[in-house]
Amino acid sequence: MRYLVAANWKMNKTVGETLEYLDRFLPSVKDLLSVDIMIAPPFTALSSASIRLDAAKKEGEYNVKLGAQNMYYVEKGAFTGEISPVMLNELDVEYVILGHSERRHIFGEKDDLINKKVITAVETGIRPILCVGETLEEREQGKTLSVVERQIRNGLAGVEKDMAFIDIAYEPVWAIGTGVNATPEQAQEVHRFIRSLINEISKGNDSNTRILYGGSVNEKNARDLIKEPNVDGFLVGTASLDPERFYKIITEV
Ligand code: PEP
Repeated sequence: MRYLVAANWKMNKTVGETLEYLDRFLPSVKDLLSVDIMIAPPFTALSSASIRLDAAKKEGEYNVKLGAQNMYYVEKGAFTGEISPVMLNELDVEYVILGHSERRHIFGEKDDLINKKVITAVETGIRPILCVGETLEEREQGKTLSVVERQIRNGLAGVEKDMAFIDIAYEPVWAIGTGVNATPEQAQEVHRFIRSLINEISKGNDSNTRILYGGSVNEKNARDLIKEPNVDGFLVGTASLDPERFYKIITEV
């Protein structure tokens, strides 16, 4: 299985800043082909990033893919403020982050809406990264595994047979943007559980599914986290905003 290191820029970077980033980042990862790399800029920068990545690919070997941070599940229509999978396809977006904890907790997205998005992403040929994870309160109440199980079973309902085309990101809410990462042991416990769960629901069709860890990953803790047998890459927020820091994390994988 090829590991995946993905950057979630959230609501950061203008078009100009995106292009400046890519100018610094792309030369560093040229020929770094052993790991999949994905960058998810904000929607407004996707088009420019897509053109820049396309040009880079024509110049040489690059393994950097484009991702979106969200999408709606309908092709077009009266959905003010939303972005459709067809619009993402047009820009060669290959991945979409769905069910991020900020979407769940700030914007109130529930499992059934996330599930509809996952289904449409799979149908459209955009590889979903389904994010799951417990809050601090849920962890303290001993509910971590049951919360993660519910989010995965509900989020993947109807696409279990397509598991090979789906990645999962385990992102404990208490670790996102806080500077407090899960320990490698804490991550491994949940990743092992997720691996056995997706193996069961996909009837063994999960060998291409990466289980990423996300939550305050940086260039210092990446090495220990990736040593765990069921950690197959990272979803990186804050540390991915700096091209040198993101590059260093990739080289640890
Ligand atoms: C994220 O947004 O997915 C994330 C993990 O953020 P951070 O790395 O900043 O914790």
